[in-house]
Amino acid sequence: MFDFPITISSFIEWFDQRNESASDVAGLISEKILKINKKINAFATLDIDTIVSNISKTEQARGSAKLKGVPVGIKGNICVKDAVTSCSSKILEGFIPPYNATVIDRLEQEGALLFPGLNMDEFAFGSSCETSYYGATKNPWDITRIPGGSSGGAAAAVAAGAVVAALGSDTGGSIRQPAAMCGVVGFKPTYGRVSRYGLIAFASSLDQIGPLTRNVEDCARILEVISGYDEKDSTSVKNEVPCYTESLFKDIKGLRIGIPKEYFTSGIDEDVNVRINEAIEVLKEQGAEIVDMSLPHTKYAVSCYYIIGPAEASSNLARYDGVHYGYRDEEAKDLIEMYTATRSEGFGAEAKRRILLGTYVLSSGYYEAYYLKAQKVRTKISDDFREAFKMCDCILTPTAPTAAFKLGERIDDPLQMYLSDVFTIPANLAGLPAVSLPCGVTRENLPVGVQLMAAPFNEEVLIRVGHAFERETGYDKLLDRIEV
Ligand code: GLN
Repeated sequence: MFDFPITISSFIEWFDQRNESASDVAGLISEKILKINKKINAFATLDIDTIVSNISKTEQARGSAKLKGVPVGIKGNICVKDAVTSCSSKILEGFIPPYNATVIDRLEQEGALLFPGLNMDEFAFGSSCETSYYGATKNPWDITRIPGGSSGGAAAAVAAGAVVAALGSDTGGSIRQPAAMCGVVGFKPTYGRVSRYGLIAFASSLDQIGPLTRNVEDCARILEVISGYDEKDSTSVKNEVPCYTESLFKDIKGLRIGIPKEYFTSGIDEDVNVRINEAIEVLKEQGAEIVDMSLPHTKYAVSCYYIIGPAEASSNLARYDGVHYGYRDEEAKDLIEMYTATRSEGFGAEAKRRILLGTYVLSSGYYEAYYLKAQKVRTKISDDFREAFKMCDCILTPTAPTAAFKLGERIDDPLQMYLSDVFTIPANLAGLPAVSLPCGVTRENLPVGVQLMAAPFNEEVLIRVGHAFERETGYDKLLDRIEV
């Protein structure tokens, strides 16, 4: 099979040396993607003709462009002009946005070659990629297992080497958890660091876009391109964007790493525990100081998230009524019947569950008991972190309690599914930056992820610790074991 280097710097070097046009190279890359996709279904909608005919931006990009020719997969909830952006839902089947998300403009300015339509849980509701209308994505480490979710297509495509990097979105763990399941790096930036303009909203106070890559260096490179203020997103922040790649080689001596006791409870798989404890030892040996600490309100995070998330989702999803976008039931006899039939047929079971939950917690009489209370708990969770970052520079936890589970194993048990994100949700509630890094494999040869969280806008410390860990362990090379 035709192959290309799958890290950013090696790809750019290779691309520069070839005398072919960007569209010829895009054609070759597309062939590889199509082959891999047949096995793992990483893309829900893959329209190669549009991609290949749409690469004038890559061809025009400056010689010094930071991502010239680099194939970057885009999760199906990030709007790409002229490409189907379906959120892996029937209700947005065939929806073609007339504009680009800001992150897409930024990638294109740096010459990236975009492959939109990565598979995901419908509207990003899920942790296994199984709620997609286009069928589940499979984990390239073991195709009988889930790739994680909701950015499962993104993690699987990067792990399989179909694309060099991908953009996902993270509302409660959707970048980090699939990154852990597929053995790649997944980074959720601080809320407000990256523009959400053009990201189809799930829960607007929690959503962030971020990269999934094969190593920490590539993560820093993509982060540098997509971060920064955007006048089209009033929640994006004007803080200056540091040069993340400059933090890569700074040593971590004396850096304080917090270990919160609430994250090391029963319910964590034994193999995951072993790998996480090894990771702590590795960092200690590199001179980091390990600080035992507590985040007392963590135990309420999942309940709090499953009130606020669905509440915001139910309101954001009200716009899909068959009038403006996508799917419409054509049989209905009047407007109300059309709304009802369109939404009943267009949304899958999990989306309906979220809409019902959200509408319930916002309804009069229940609003104070659920929604308002959850907001107060959210403040307590953020306060815990604020205090914690007086004692440490970053916090280390497992990314998920287990490695990738079998396809079908949790799909009928929403509570079990929701618990996959027990360790990732707090960072969203508090708006913190957090990353999942590969930290070895289980006895069944499945990747395990370690999570690092930092204070708002301190992405740099995560890049620094992440790169030190990767240099020491070489765990980015674990991906070489995959054959798809
Ligand atoms: N798995 C979580 C959920 O189902 C998080 C999803 C996400 O981050 N988009 O809500």
